Amino acid sequence: MILKKNLNADSRKSKLKPTAPQTAIEPRFREILKALGENPSREGLLDTPRRFSKSIEFLTSGYHKSVADVVGRGIFKAESSEMVIVRDIELYSLCEHHMLPFFGKAHVAYIPDKKIIGLSKIPRIVDVFARRLQVQERMTAQVADALMEVLQPLGVAVVIEAAHFCMMMRGVEKQNSKTITSAMRGEFYSDPTTRKEFLQLIHE
Ligand SMILES: [Zn+2]
Repeated sequence: MILKKNLNADSRKSKLKPTAPQTAIEPRFREILKALGENPSREGLLDTPRRFSKSIEFLTSGYHKSVADVVGRGIFKAESSEMVIVRDIELYSLCEHHMLPFFGKAHVAYIPDKKIIGLSKIPRIVDVFARRLQVQERMTAQVADALMEVLQPLGVAVVIEAAHFCMMMRGVEKQNSKTITSAMRGEFYSDPTTRKEFLQLIHE
């Protein structure tokens, strides 16, 4: 009985003491909690700075990745010059103005010029840019330009459809609006028929 009592006392003690911070973000986030009027020492919040730090580091991990890293050796020779589309790529990012999430789908197409890219590489390229603080317009252009650079294709098209929490939870509080951005390069830009075919295929 005594042993059990002591164990309980110990665990209660350790629970109420935050462990030493592992990142520069943790003590600062604890200050933010205080500024919000919270008590960062209460049980439910004790480990929140650490969890927040881990989570935000993951959500911005794109800063430490390059397109070359994720593409690796995933580019192959090919004769085809038919349009390739990867559509409905799930996308989660953070808006740089409010650091609130925006999420939706990316549709990416290209027309090869003697080179093709491993299909799984395209969602990875999207994530390199989505896991940063972003505006949707810039991210759309970055994905298109990155593919143009690594693949030198005849054209690239990117359409992103996303819902923004900064519009849904605050500000205008519009829950059902979607923001659609597009970036057209090469033949998708110069040839309306190619562009139309792409837009039809992503909405079929
Ligand atoms: Zn925002």
